[in-house]
Amino acid sequence: MSWKANIFLCVGASLREILRVQKSGKNHGGYHGETIDIRAVLRAVETAAHTHGWVSETFYEAGGFKFFALHRRPEGRRQKAEGRIYISTGIHGDEPAGPLAALKLIEEDRWPENAEIFLLPCLNPAGFTLNQRANAGGIDLNRDYRQPLSAEVGAHIRWLQRQPEFDLTLCLHEDWESHGFYVYELNPDGHAPLGQKMVEAVARVCPIDLSPVIEGREAKGGVITPSLDPAARPQWPEAFWLLQNKTRRSCTLEAPSDFPLATRVGALVAGVKSALAVALAG
Ligand SMILES: [Zn+2]
Repeated sequence: MSWKANIFLCVGASLREILRVQKSGKNHGGYHGETIDIRAVLRAVETAAHTHGWVSETFYEAGGFKFFALHRRPEGRRQKAEGRIYISTGIHGDEPAGPLAALKLIEEDRWPENAEIFLLPCLNPAGFTLNQRANAGGIDLNRDYRQPLSAEVGAHIRWLQRQPEFDLTLCLHEDWESHGFYVYELNPDGHAPLGQKMVEAVARVCPIDLSPVIEGREAKGGVITPSLDPAARPQWPEAFWLLQNKTRRSCTLEAPSDFPLATRVGALVAGVKSALAVALAG
């Protein structure tokens, strides 16, 4: 389906908003859109997190960057969490909407009351300074989780191994080739599906990619439910490690990076909020 058809899926958006949300058409062979000053974004993330009572833990340092995890306990602080949610982003340095979405979510501070949140706002800061997918050494970190070669992923896994199990994990990404937002949903135990509701929520702010095949995989209404056999895959993305070790429910959100950055940030924020609402409703 073309982007022209897709834009009419922007349910509830005004005509002016719809006309503004168009593909730029400038991303060929890679991402050539807006970039961010990742150091400034991460400083803003830390400031906002401190303001709203998150605890920050640095688990690795390299290249002048701190890799940190943020932890927010449920409100009331003594309550038991109903849902333990893990959110990560910034593993691909040419996908700026993810760290910005993390910042927006922390600044808005509208989390479900009884959720315990673990948030990793940037897993590949050096990649952002180069506006490249891989880390500074040329490794695609999101293919490095089976037998890690990179120090960053090694440190991330050691941090993860110290954490409890998660009820849901969300990995925030972007795709410069896509015609709209889409989501990979890993849900082997048949929990209430999150993908379709997420797409409905995101469609209010961003076009959805309704292609029948996305990235070589069968898709339905913007949702890809990959057939699961991590053992058969030589290279693991973060979501596979999480599914094998820490969760039974994982979504990878993909914002369309040929669209304006603000639209993509809005898409990821709407997707996260929808997933939390559905998952915590049981
Ligand atoms: Zn990505």
